Amino acid sequence: MSFQTVHILGVPFVRATMDDMVAIVHERVKQQKPCFIVTANPEIVMKAKEEPTYMATIQQADYVVADGIGVVKAAELLGTPLPERVAGYDLLCRCLQLANEHEYRVYMIGAKEEVVQAAAQHIRNHYPNVHVVGVRNGYFDWNDKTIVEEVKQAQPDFVFVALGMGKQEQWIAEHIGMVGRGVWMGVGGSFDVLAGVVKRAPELWIRLHLEWLYRLLKQPTRAKRMLALPRFAWTILKQKVVGK
Ligand code: UDP
Repeated sequence: MSFQTVHILGVPFVRATMDDMVAIVHERVKQQKPCFIVTANPEIVMKAKEEPTYMATIQQADYVVADGIGVVKAAELLGTPLPERVAGYDLLCRCLQLANEHEYRVYMIGAKEEVVQAAAQHIRNHYPNVHVVGVRNGYFDWNDKTIVEEVKQAQPDFVFVALGMGKQEQWIAEHIGMVGRGVWMGVGGSFDVLAGVVKRAPELWIRLHLEWLYRLLKQPTRAKRMLALPRFAWTILKQKVVGK
């Protein structure tokens, strides 16, 4: 399956809907080919724009999806629309549904020990046919090669990595080749949501495109990070006015 890409400040977003992504993921799992997915929001785009090494990591991904309504709006404004938002947490849930239907194998890396264990239990309870073949917290020594060895031994169909943006994409880029199979995706704070430690915004807030505001109100410590949003909007507007 081949899909066009749309570049936003240098980040190549795939022009695919959520259903397209699920079909792509399923194809890759069936082929047992490794696949690296980045779910990028405006914060990630700004980080990539400002850090060439991070941009290079993102560009290694097989698919970058538009996690964040800001990215969808920016694409529209620049005259290269994307079909819809593909939120990371929603894509994770769709992957889990797929894994449940086909009894796929899931490896989980990231978050605090009690959080990742609770998230794994949530998966066992709600997706009973999923094989959770590895659970590992996200506070390890970067040079510890036993982790990637364990992942390899577990022969996962999915590797979900929740180390926060930046770190998780770098970890995936460094290790996916050593394992050589599985759909690998950075899932940010999604284990915290699965574990019930952090609540996702209510449906209405999501529909009104206010999920970012809900997150800010619930986790005010993110305020500084979220300054990336107005910077992103300003950069897009400048690009729109000035041209390329
Ligand atoms: N985390 C981790 N190891 C680290 C740093 C962070 O496992 O060295 C986890 C953290 O416990 C949390 C997630 O990564 O579960 C980051 O969540 P956040 O909502 O900040 O994700 P982001 O918005 O950065 O993608």
